[in-house]
Amino acid sequence: MAPRYGAPVDGEGPTGAARVDVLTPRDVPLGGPRAMTVRRTLPQRARTLIGAWCFADHYGPDDVSVSGGMDVAPHPHSGLQTVSWLFSGEIEHRDSLGSHAYVRPGELNLMTGGYGISHSEVSTPRTTVLHGVQLWVALPAEHRATARDFQHYVPEPVRIDGAEIRVFLGSLAGHTSPVKTFTPLLGAEIALPPHTTLTLTVNPTFEHGLLIDQGEVSLAETPLRFAELGYAHPGTGTLTLTNTADTTARMILLGGPPFEEEIIIWWNFIGRSSEEIAQARRDWTEGRRFGEVRGYNGAPLPAPELPKVPLKPRGNRR
Ligand code: MN
Repeated sequence: MAPRYGAPVDGEGPTGAARVDVLTPRDVPLGGPRAMTVRRTLPQRARTLIGAWCFADHYGPDDVSVSGGMDVAPHPHSGLQTVSWLFSGEIEHRDSLGSHAYVRPGELNLMTGGYGISHSEVSTPRTTVLHGVQLWVALPAEHRATARDFQHYVPEPVRIDGAEIRVFLGSLAGHTSPVKTFTPLLGAEIALPPHTTLTLTVNPTFEHGLLIDQGEVSLAETPLRFAELGYAHPGTGTLTLTNTADTTARMILLGGPPFEEEIIIWWNFIGRSSEEIAQARRDWTEGRRFGEVRGYNGAPLPAPELPKVPLKPRGNRR
């Protein structure tokens, strides 16, 4: 039977403060001749997913005259969607759907891998400081082979209690993103003035993650530092965010009902079995399934070797 998303969580109600775990990032070099290092908070040992959000890389602010910026050659994706969200800089996106788009601050670019897509990402010469997040969404099994797609959306900022909120996926603070997702999701950027508290009404069946990009913020009285991801368990209808510092804080709020399926994340693919991942790797290596990226100056990325032992599906610990 297909899992139901958004079902109430047994034994928990919409009252009381959220229970919060702090997920700390690890530095991951992206590799290549112009290596960029990112701070990864998802997946990690303690947590694979928050809702269907299964990958969270946070990078910058990087002075591109020092770091060389971003230059990721064509590579494939399947079984997932990618979200590119920038705080500063500009990235040129090309994909095998034929999309040629510029990713800019405050603008959602949601790419659906589905059965298979390939794309390249290059920071433009106009970029002096590169700063943003790269997020992945796991597609539920029944939609994991959906057609490739690319959507662009610019949310109007919502102002509430001094905070400025950009809701790029789902609903928050009276604003609903029109962008379609395959499971219920929340994605929003929040800017919070110094020494301000914001109480947000949220869906009590959702779990949430708050990624701190700037400043010091407490989530339900749990202090979070730069690049940490505060995980709020489902079962509370309000999230209280407090900026405890003298400068404006900026953060990304993610949410969704707990994703009940076990998945395998390997390289740029999400599958349900080791065989499915090996097939995706073969198809990329042999030039099938993922289409062609036009206009990128250089060769596509080769897939790494598969590990010798079969890959094991992972879910969240209960
Ligand atoms: Mn990619």
